[in-house]
Amino acid sequence: MPEKIDCAVIGAGVIGLAIARELALAGREVVILEAEEAIGTHTSSRNSEVIHAGIFYAPGTLKARLCVEGKQRMYRYCAERGITHQRITKIIVATVDAQVAELGKYMRQAEVNGVDDLQMLSRGELQQMEPEVAAVAGFLSPSTGTVDSHALMLSYLGDAENRGASLALNSRVESGRMTGDGILLNVGGKEPMTVVCNTVINAAGLYAQDVSRRIEGVPAATIPPTFYAIGHYYTLTGQSPFGRHVYPIARADWHGVHVTVDLGGRCKFGPDFEWIDRVDYRFDESREAHFYAAIRHYYPGLKDGALQPGYTGIRPKIGGPSKLVTDFVIQSERDHGAKGLIALYGIESPGLTSSLAIGAYVRELLAH
Ligand SMILES: Cc1cc2nc3c(=O)[nH]c(=O)nc-3n(C[C@H](O)[C@H](O)[C@H](O)COP(=O)(O)OP(=O)(O)OC[C@H]3O[C@@H](n4cnc5c(N)ncnc54)[C@H](O)[C@@H]3O)c2cc1C
Repeated sequence: MPEKIDCAVIGAGVIGLAIARELALAGREVVILEAEEAIGTHTSSRNSEVIHAGIFYAPGTLKARLCVEGKQRMYRYCAERGITHQRITKIIVATVDAQVAELGKYMRQAEVNGVDDLQMLSRGELQQMEPEVAAVAGFLSPSTGTVDSHALMLSYLGDAENRGASLALNSRVESGRMTGDGILLNVGGKEPMTVVCNTVINAAGLYAQDVSRRIEGVPAATIPPTFYAIGHYYTLTGQSPFGRHVYPIARADWHGVHVTVDLGGRCKFGPDFEWIDRVDYRFDESREAHFYAAIRHYYPGLKDGALQPGYTGIRPKIGGPSKLVTDFVIQSERDHGAKGLIALYGIESPGLTSSLAIGAYVRELLAH
């Protein structure tokens, strides 16, 4: 007889852990099933660790709403729990006159999203704030920050475990099916098991579509296509010449080769953006020339040889180059008809920032 459990969360990245925490706090019995031998080894540890303000997302989207709400929750939570974080702020800059109109567009969009603290900066103010940055205009986002993502995940896990949740590592969900008694999951790994669950949360990140496809009874038409886009980070040797994150205006679907300053006061450049056809984190060092050229648009003082290959992260995309889909997709029974299943797709940036808000959103979906 398969073991009966109340609620299984598939995936112990920041999203699965935030949802597990929220459901455990709501009194649910939660088991987190994680394929790898540790938590957060995929996208949740391969990102910029930025607490985003909520500027770049179209009004009315889940990203806009959950980012702004998530940011507020995140600052409160980190302060309460002593999780290392910093309101380091960010400047968004135009490097040529033709981009100045875009600054205004982003400021208006941010305001609609509820980000009402942006400050326009003149060339002189920018120069004073960030002498190494070459820009014609810009604005400051005071609520942008940085968080220690691993400490955050450990804290979510700790909260969940304190309310009785358990974490099963090396527990890959291989397949499943809808039954009259709940959702049956076949779990592989070192100690294979079969469980039947009242509720299943598919928070498998890059593999979320694959997991849904393996659960018989989830209509294929409701599962978005899978696309991946890799981003490379280069680090700068020595202390950061910038006091805050610096984002040059770039293409609509990514922020270009921007700078983020980490909690140790060092900085990294990236991520860039390239479509790939499988999950492969290898670093492509041929990107270097592109990085030098892109960075020198706003940081002309970058010296030859100063960049070191850092790491890569992969965006879980649900639309490809010909049909960009830019919002999170969070489906409940109403969307796919599979009773008890919540499936999260395309949880790319700002997923880390939004994690607490996504947890609350999922709890509400389950309550209705
Ligand atoms: C390059 C990059 C930069 C980013 N920068 C930021 C940023 O600065 N700020 C921000 O807010 N957001 C950022 N993000 C987004 C953020 O990192 C993600 O939204 C978030 O980490 C997604 O978490 P997740 O839990 O959904 O996925 P993951 O962290 O990938 O976790 C999914 C988990 O599911 C597990 N899993 C997969 N298949 C199975 C299975 N069959 N059975 C059991 N377990 C399984 C995996 O092993 C993994 O642990 C960035 C993303 C990228 C790619």
